[in-house]
Amino acid sequence: MTPVQTRNLIDGEWKTAPSGATLNVTNPATDELIAEVPDAGAEQARAAIAAARAALPAWRALPAGERAEPLARLASLMQDKHEELATLLTREQGKPLAEARGEISYAASFITWAAEEAKRVYGETVPSSRPDQRILVLRQPVGVVAAITPWNFPSAMITRKLGPALAAGCTMIVKPAEQTPLSAFAIGELALEAGIPAGVLNVISGDAATIAQTIFADPTVRKVSFTGSTEVGQKLMVQAAQNVVRLSLELGGHAPFIVFDDADLDAAVTGAIKSKFRNAGQTCVCPNRFFVQAGVYDEFVAKLAAALEPMRVGAGLDEGVAIGPLIDDAAVAKVRDHIDDARSHGATLRLGGEIFSPGPGLTQRFCRPTIVEGVDASMKLSHEETFGPVAPIRRFTHEAEAIELANDSPYGLASYFYTRDAARLWRVAEALEYGIVGANDGAPSTAQAPFGGVKMSGFGREGGRYAMHEYLDVKYVSIGLS
Ligand code: ADP
Repeated sequence: MTPVQTRNLIDGEWKTAPSGATLNVTNPATDELIAEVPDAGAEQARAAIAAARAALPAWRALPAGERAEPLARLASLMQDKHEELATLLTREQGKPLAEARGEISYAASFITWAAEEAKRVYGETVPSSRPDQRILVLRQPVGVVAAITPWNFPSAMITRKLGPALAAGCTMIVKPAEQTPLSAFAIGELALEAGIPAGVLNVISGDAATIAQTIFADPTVRKVSFTGSTEVGQKLMVQAAQNVVRLSLELGGHAPFIVFDDADLDAAVTGAIKSKFRNAGQTCVCPNRFFVQAGVYDEFVAKLAAALEPMRVGAGLDEGVAIGPLIDDAAVAKVRDHIDDARSHGATLRLGGEIFSPGPGLTQRFCRPTIVEGVDASMKLSHEETFGPVAPIRRFTHEAEAIELANDSPYGLASYFYTRDAARLWRVAEALEYGIVGANDGAPSTAQAPFGGVKMSGFGREGGRYAMHEYLDVKYVSIGLS
């Protein structure tokens, strides 16, 4: 798909940066230049905020069912344009086309769900302790909100903020990742077509730090929802202090994946591939530490290696490709560093480890599915997010040991384990210090369930009715009866 829109969406109009400055969007598989997009600065960020502020009163005042209508149309337009959106996503991000198709459906599902839920933003009455008082609790939209999103899910990370925010009656400014703004513009274009009024959704690409500073400096913006690295999330927390702005932070993870002796090993292998190797290992819920119980260790590793060996590595648009490129050269350098560091500390490569170019015209950003054995806590693999298709595996003996190893992380986003013992399933699910637990499930994320972390993985939840609360303020009305 040729990108249709390559400019910023502000107040229903497409605009270049006032300075004329642009950023290049390239295909990570080929380095082909796909588009030049605006490199907006503070002035355009202020214009986007002003547009969202102007659009707020009318949008917020609409009955929920009327806000739901254009949102539902947006979701359905995304499905109508499914193939074009998926192709565009793969071109700017790299993931295999089949995964990009899955992402578009997944992205649309957040809007559909929120559009339905808009009608169920209920308040409450609370029994008073005074006969002459009535207590009402109202839920009202937070106001103007901003979303700052990453490149690994260029469509879904936007819609799971946009859906509940707009459904709740907020207006929004989206700042997509510089690597993948085209999917964001495509959503903006479809939002206009769906009848979402001008200014309700604004999309600006540009310098992240400048735009973020402008957003936090303007007291109009009452909430920022961010998905990205813990490092940037920490910076945003500091900036949010100046106007006491609400935050949702979905930050880094370091997921454990535990396989117990009593697991269904084939299911565990399938779950491991889904959770670890999707998007070439570039998701915040990817396992970074596999712990396998001694009794099944050899069999699990052999089965996993056999399943990974034939996976085709190549450009995402090519038929049959299961692993696409890493996003950029910095990502490649990190994956290489983690593999080299592990080997220099005594780990061994069971599979893969190679970073290469799979064909003519393709970049050197492709990494074969990799299994590293003999991993220990001293290695970078064990405590830094690798963001690549590398599975570091460690053997354990007792359940308590696995839980201790799994919880030994400053992060707390996703965790996974496989067992067929019902009592163990409860015990381990309760003991894991993570916001998400996949118990015999390698792909737990879905539109109706709460997604988010604890500890340094952030706070706030996306998905389901929990997401709506992120965009609603609670107002207590005390009525005196005299
Ligand atoms: P990643 O390592 O996945 O690229 P980042 O946290 O760097 O994660 O990026 C996630 C989002 O945060 C992107 O939209 C990026 O442009 C934005 N970003 C990066 N640096 C800053 C910053 N200093 N302030 C605000 N946003 C930022």
